Amino acid sequence: MTHTLEKLFSNPASCEERVISIQTTLTACRALGPENSGQGEMLKTRHIAAWLTACGVSNLIHLDKADTRVESGLRPNLVALIPGRQKKTLWLFGHTDVVPPGDISAWSADPWQVRRDGDFLYGRGVEDNQQAIVSMLLLAEELNARQIVPDLSLGLVFMSDEETGSAYGLRHILSVAHDMFRADDLFIVPDAGSPCGDRIEISEKGQLWIQIHIKGVQCHASTPQKGHNAFLAASAMALACHEHLHAVFADVDELFDPPHSTFVPSKHEANVPNINTVPGEDVFFMDCRLLPQVVSEEVLAQTRNLAAVVEKQYGVHVDISVVQEQKASSTSASSRVVTALKDAVMQVYGVKARAVGIGGATVAAFLREKGFPAAVWSCIENTCHAPDERSSITSTINDARVFAHILMQAHV
Ligand SMILES: [Zn+2]
Repeated sequence: MTHTLEKLFSNPASCEERVISIQTTLTACRALGPENSGQGEMLKTRHIAAWLTACGVSNLIHLDKADTRVESGLRPNLVALIPGRQKKTLWLFGHTDVVPPGDISAWSADPWQVRRDGDFLYGRGVEDNQQAIVSMLLLAEELNARQIVPDLSLGLVFMSDEETGSAYGLRHILSVAHDMFRADDLFIVPDAGSPCGDRIEISEKGQLWIQIHIKGVQCHASTPQKGHNAFLAASAMALACHEHLHAVFADVDELFDPPHSTFVPSKHEANVPNINTVPGEDVFFMDCRLLPQVVSEEVLAQTRNLAAVVEKQYGVHVDISVVQEQKASSTSASSRVVTALKDAVMQVYGVKARAVGIGGATVAAFLREKGFPAAVWSCIENTCHAPDERSSITSTINDARVFAHILMQAHV
């Protein structure tokens, strides 16, 4: 087995060439979703399908979803299957869409044209999520070029729409073809990580976004006693939520950073346009990230209790509504995907990886929701969505090696 692994990626110069060439083509596709005024991922996915076909991968499944907002009329999802000795499959997921470059003047060069500086490639999408896509393609190419049948089967999923909700991407795939996956398969989403590869994300806090709408009575600001100031009441409500909710839901879980649930007043809507009016209405939002054991209904009940106090004190009415909710999701730290990843990361990168939880949300949550134990891992610079986004050529090849290790471990 070690012998087989050594054969893979044994020509670093040609791997490097391949990384640069694939990254250059993918970046130029400008795969922005329609929400970001783009034409979607079709061109990019066609390139991926063509490369897979060229290197001999014949089992390609298209799970596109209709979307009239883009010229092709489809948001493409592509699954490539490479049979191994076992039916058990290692699934790797890469998203083809990218986010807009943002302020162009913050970039050192054209974000859609890949630029190389030493070991780094620069451009929009090179890290998020093309590093994963390139690793996946390299792995498929190497297996076929060297005619290696891996121990586990390999499933490569190239999906749309990750940056704008996944309704046309992984959520669609799971709704039409979830029987493709099995609970004892291994699921890796290489879409987050650390620069030395030592973080394996296995858990995500629950997300609860709340809108708080205060209705008071508008009046002239020179006679505030004639009205009920909705902005003042909203301020009291924001402070009360911030202090009280952290105190009530004070559990600590060191898997996460920060290790507790968070309750953050974030967006605030404009109220009156002029200074000399007491606002009769005020709307703000709270972003809550909940440890897995915290029940969102209890958070809402506590928030309503606080609202009742504010209503009484300020003579206002407070409406509370949920804007978005995503339950917490976890994969066990002792699951096979995590132990196999730890082992492979040690072999390739020489570091001891540890399991962590995050407050953010990844598509791994959709997989976990369906009972598929997913881990999020890659060795990345964490420049996603930033100007001068970059990706290491060496890490791209080494990530592919990590996946190869897992693929060749019959005992997994
Ligand atoms: Zn991403």
